[in-house]
Amino acid sequence: MVDPVYLDFNATAAARPEVIEAVAAAMAEGGNASSVHAAGRAARARVEDARRAVAALVGAEPGGVIFTGSGTEANNQALRCTGRPRVLVSAIEHESVLGARDDAGRIPVGADGCVDLAALEAMLAGDDRPAIVSVMLANNETGAIQPLAEVVRIARRRGALVHSDAVQAGGKIPVDMAVLGVDLLSLSAHKMAGPQGVGALVMRNPALVGRLIHGGGQERALRAGTENVPGISGFAVAARMARAGLDRFAALAGLRDGLEAGMRAVDPAVVVFADRVPRLPNTCKVATPGLAAETQVIGLDLAGVAISAGSACSAGKIEAPSVLTAMGVAEALARCAVRVSLGWSTTGAHIDAFLAAWRTLRMRALGATAE
Ligand code: PLP
Repeated sequence: MVDPVYLDFNATAAARPEVIEAVAAAMAEGGNASSVHAAGRAARARVEDARRAVAALVGAEPGGVIFTGSGTEANNQALRCTGRPRVLVSAIEHESVLGARDDAGRIPVGADGCVDLAALEAMLAGDDRPAIVSVMLANNETGAIQPLAEVVRIARRRGALVHSDAVQAGGKIPVDMAVLGVDLLSLSAHKMAGPQGVGALVMRNPALVGRLIHGGGQERALRAGTENVPGISGFAVAARMARAGLDRFAALAGLRDGLEAGMRAVDPAVVVFADRVPRLPNTCKVATPGLAAETQVIGLDLAGVAISAGSACSAGKIEAPSVLTAMGVAEALARCAVRVSLGWSTTGAHIDAFLAAWRTLRMRALGATAE
């Protein structure tokens, strides 16, 4: 039996033990955060504490944070509930942004994996309708950090609102909404070792946003439905631990770079995407010409190493990833690309195990025998 090596943290990060404890404690305590009795007030206190923790993670005011059922829901609310007739999204957005509005225009990206600022400028100049622009802070596939401050400057000149999907950036790199200048930001707890099924929409001015889910008056009447108090309590712990651990997370770049160097030593033809621009420290999107993504994912899985071909949302199907297609990567190469993503529990031994298993696959495909 091989010890599993999990290198798919961008799909979901295993919850930290402290998070599991907080979720269990909130479940044991019970209480509906809208009830006036003591149990209800205790649940309310947990939710408000979490609001402060999430706000602090992204340099926002607690009053601007509402909890949602996922990052997907936060993205949908941002794009569908600000009453802006025109929506522009980058071509490398997650499906939850690309699919939120059928009428959204797509801002192209360059071969480096970053949004084309001149194209954004031209698109905004070509239409006077009030717009909202959505550009993610970091891409889930390549890890490429987008030039958001420039996006905001361009959008402001045209009176457009700016939303950023920070689901992959939150808890991995420092995020300060005030410095970035964005109006709306989406987060998801499970990408930062919190529980699955909890997200947040962070707003500079909540008055600009309407509700996506109708019903009761929870979350300042912006998100109906009894709050997921255990999940939100776990989110608070994950957000605080992520904030305190940003330096340690940054150090993952050393392991990631070692992984890329190790792959290149075996096969100098491997192509690492977005390696010329600032990237998330934990993410590597790499193609091995002639070795299909499917072969790599399945072969590594058999060796006890979990990686992915594309985003987890398209799991089950292994197809040419649209992020690479948007970057102009040839389909044949895109089909040979996998994503390796590290996280809080990754060690050098995990990287060594990945490299040993990948080397065997590569050698086998080349018809040679691995030592
Ligand atoms: N945005 C990005 C960039 C993502 O990577 C993901 C999940 O893969 C999401 C949004 C969706 O978040 P959730 O899983 O909380 O719905």
